[in-house]
Amino acid sequence: MNESREPTVESDDAGQAFRCTNCSSSWYYTRGRCLDCGSSSFETYRLGPGRVVATTTVHATPPGVRTPNHLGLVRFDDGVSLIAQLESSGVSVGESVGFGEIVTLREGDATSIGPQLTTE
Ligand SMILES: [Zn+2]
Repeated sequence: MNESREPTVESDDAGQAFRCTNCSSSWYYTRGRCLDCGSSSFETYRLGPGRVVATTTVHATPPGVRTPNHLGLVRFDDGVSLIAQLESSGVSVGESVGFGEIVTLREGDATSIGPQLTTE
């Protein structure tokens, strides 16, 4: 068995989350099993707006990553939290944000994409 526990985003729908149909635990990144009960049965749902809990700006980024890189820790309903790129530096703690475009987070040999959070 080669089941990865690494978080990944596999969907074009950046606002899609997952809910375990056995224990109702919720999470954001695609994974094969619920980390709380081990069930592989889950449903998807759309995350509503989230609340910014913390922000930071990284000025020394790896090659291919934007500089400065504005990041936010955001909490959604059902206890789902994630760290994602913020659209701009103008987003503050306590603000409501939602999912914007899927953007290139890193260019080059290790290209990666992910959602960008925007104020509404
Ligand atoms: Zn579960």
